[in-house]
Amino acid sequence: MKKHNFSAGPCILPQEVFQKASEAIIDFNGLGLSLIEISHRDKNFIEVMDNAQNLALELLGLENKGYKALFLQGGASTQFLNIAYNLLNEKAAYLNTGTWASKAIKEAKLFGELIEVASSKDQNFNYIPKGFSVPSDVDYLHVTTNNTIFGTQIKQDYDFGVPLVADMSSDIFSCQRDFSKYDVIYAGAQKNMGPAGTTLVVVKEDVLGKVERVIPSMLDYQVHIDKDSMFNTPPVFAVYVSMLTLQWLKDLGGIQAIEKINQEKADLLYDEIDRNPLFKGFAATEDRSNMNATFNLTDDTTKDIFDSLWKEANINGLNGHRSVGGYRASMYNALPLNSVEVLVQAMQEFEKRA
Ligand SMILES: *Cc1c(COP(=O)(O)O)cnc(C)c1O
Repeated sequence: MKKHNFSAGPCILPQEVFQKASEAIIDFNGLGLSLIEISHRDKNFIEVMDNAQNLALELLGLENKGYKALFLQGGASTQFLNIAYNLLNEKAAYLNTGTWASKAIKEAKLFGELIEVASSKDQNFNYIPKGFSVPSDVDYLHVTTNNTIFGTQIKQDYDFGVPLVADMSSDIFSCQRDFSKYDVIYAGAQKNMGPAGTTLVVVKEDVLGKVERVIPSMLDYQVHIDKDSMFNTPPVFAVYVSMLTLQWLKDLGGIQAIEKINQEKADLLYDEIDRNPLFKGFAATEDRSNMNATFNLTDDTTKDIFDSLWKEANINGLNGHRSVGGYRASMYNALPLNSVEVLVQAMQEFEKRA
């Protein structure tokens, strides 16, 4: 029986995507060949790559605006250094909102001067810093729009008059933003788009070519742009599944439509966290993530009761990250509203029993 999957990543994808992906593994496009045994230069795969790139730009509203979508390898973690390699000449500004932001900072420090414009480390990253300023002479500002581990989300699109770079690994395609305010957007596929193995990088081309260092080919965005994301063998399966998910999202009505559903799911869960005296939310109310809800028990001695209740309810992946503890319910695009209803029922049952 299909579980209610609240896993933070790799995570749930639409069931019809799993179905189509499994068919393509056996016989792709009726070719008598598997998707993963044909050449990536075959027109059947080139079409997949083109579709995936076009869908990504279309959904983000970035078609014909000077952007290019790339499907690279190495995870979002490789982008931490890739960003700096391609954009950091002298100094860059970073907003430190959690573990991933801290890791991005650590890598970029290898390439130049880093200015941490603000940090929420003082409160174990349970909020998004406000009211900070950014020096006008930095090469770019880097932000993490959704903090997967701590359950906070940046709800605005910053405009400091410097190039803006965002790690959107865990909230891309989940909510509307003015994506044209961003110069580089990157996201590991495995949070909201596909299986692990590819990373979407959306680059505004005119932000490139400004660093003086020599960039190794595999790390050079321009090389990948010039080769249409086919400089070397792309992760064909991960790109294909991402394409299927993006097509699913487009058919559903795009980001605008999914944002409404995501809001409904988040409201349902947060209302219960706030109402039920046995739970307390981790993240500051105004900065709560609609993707990853973090919460704790008010009395840890009741943990066994709650754990057995949600497991009995066929729920998977609810344990919080070790740096926060408690629980984390990840409500990515493909998670049905019904799964959140089942979780809320388990929380209400817990209130009766504990
Ligand atoms: C998961 C995650 C990463 C790391 O992604 P990998 O693809 O495993 O390198 C980076 N940033 C954020 C916000 C994440 O959620």
